[in-house]
Amino acid sequence: MLFSIIKLMMIKAFSKIPLIRSLLKLRVKQIDIVDSVEQCERIAVKFEKSCTCIPVLGLDCEWVNQNGIRKPVALLQIADGNGMCSLIRLSKFKTIPPSLSNILSNSDVIKVGVAISDDAYFLMNDYNIQISGYIDLRYLAKECCLKERSLAALAHKLLGCELDKDWRVRASDWEAELLSDRQTEYAALDAYVAVEILKQLINKKISWWDWLFLTDKQQWDSFIVKYLKYKDQPYKNIRANGNANFKSKSTVRSYSTSTIKTTKVYDNCLMENVDGTTMSTCSNKKIDWYISQGLAKLVNDNPRTIRLNFPADIKKPKDNFSVLPRENICIVCGSCEYFHKKNIIPKEFVRYIPTEYKSHTSHDTLLICHFCFIKSNAFDLTLRKKLFEKCQIHELNPHDSQMNPTHMKIIKSKNLAKTLLNCRDKLSDNTRNKLKLEIAKTYNIKPDRVFDTFLETLITIKYLKYENYKQHSSAAEKVVKHFLEQNAMNELKAMCRQHFLDAMKPKHLPHLWSVTYDG
Ligand SMILES: [Zn+2]
Repeated sequence: MLFSIIKLMMIKAFSKIPLIRSLLKLRVKQIDIVDSVEQCERIAVKFEKSCTCIPVLGLDCEWVNQNGIRKPVALLQIADGNGMCSLIRLSKFKTIPPSLSNILSNSDVIKVGVAISDDAYFLMNDYNIQISGYIDLRYLAKECCLKERSLAALAHKLLGCELDKDWRVRASDWEAELLSDRQTEYAALDAYVAVEILKQLINKKISWWDWLFLTDKQQWDSFIVKYLKYKDQPYKNIRANGNANFKSKSTVRSYSTSTIKTTKVYDNCLMENVDGTTMSTCSNKKIDWYISQGLAKLVNDNPRTIRLNFPADIKKPKDNFSVLPRENICIVCGSCEYFHKKNIIPKEFVRYIPTEYKSHTSHDTLLICHFCFIKSNAFDLTLRKKLFEKCQIHELNPHDSQMNPTHMKIIKSKNLAKTLLNCRDKLSDNTRNKLKLEIAKTYNIKPDRVFDTFLETLITIKYLKYENYKQHSSAAEKVVKHFLEQNAMNELKAMCRQHFLDAMKPKHLPHLWSVTYDG
């Protein structure tokens, strides 16, 4: 009997050798850089296979921050328990095939990482990719009485390895045509190390008895049953003031203003604080997310209203502007299509305005159709000129400028529209459809909606060159500083709003909107 136990221990010990080896020298076995949907399908098959044994994946995301604003996720890193890692370049193909999304949304396949709920939120928000069955490693670290909370610290403690956490790599161009070797290694290790950390945490929690007599799969099952309570839970570090340290709250981006939305924008749902006071209107998507994360409960169906489970530290607005329902029309001309959200105070100024002056920005973000948007952006050049003059900044000319890629696209579709209208008889059906498809893609609409009236409007819009952002950014900083020093933040806001009124003469402004609003 004793002999057979020793024999069993020997077999077990040897079977653990690959794990020990991977501990001594951290090495990803294979890194696939995935550039297309077809490649994505191939790696999905591999992951599906590896997840039949131990259903776990390490997951991480990278994105580019531009002028302080997070751009959509550029890279999704996934690693399995066998050291296979895929770097999925979402910036290149924007969508993933069902074969992979099925694995990601399958809550029986556990995804691990640090702050993984943020990644899940971003992927949902940017690409409608659902991540289910995730567990934040920090919960498990806490269960194991470890004080380390970052991926690098946990890797150091449990795997004895140093992760490259140089900010220059972290903040590098994840949308680049080719990723550098250093970027590739950095990105792959973050996902890979997450799985390796999990293995170590399991080893810590498993009794020697289970270790000896249970198969890897049985060990996994008993482990996962114990920690199910952490599944799909954002990590909440309860601080002394009782507020949850919920990273998403500060990093959740505002909805992109450069994307054209063809459907309605405002769902006019409501969000209440824990004490039942209405905080703001919000979208159905946001409501669903808060409920799915267990952060809020539904308290009314019409309008859909949620109440948070934790006290949100939000200043109560002085009037009801932010809780009033908003109409889904262009506030300038009343059009019901091709929407943008227009920042009445140009973005490059907003980023320098201290947070205490911008708690209720919904007042200065108005729904506007594409055509009014282009027009108003052109008028904003005059606003900048006015502000620069007021603050005596003379070194730059608002028209001295550079093209930006979005404008190049718009100008291209303007030319396509001209061709479609002017050379109608000379084009084959095939060519016409191709051109329409191109325009439809730029404006994110269905090709059969590219009517002649739409093409005509495209042609009539006058485009101004886009200003050199860097130069303007430093001038914008000076402008904001000037108004701050004069203690006249409200004057800056009022100037921008008045300029918008004078230039655009909006006919459908929301109720309670005003030049002197101070919410
Ligand atoms: Zn309009």
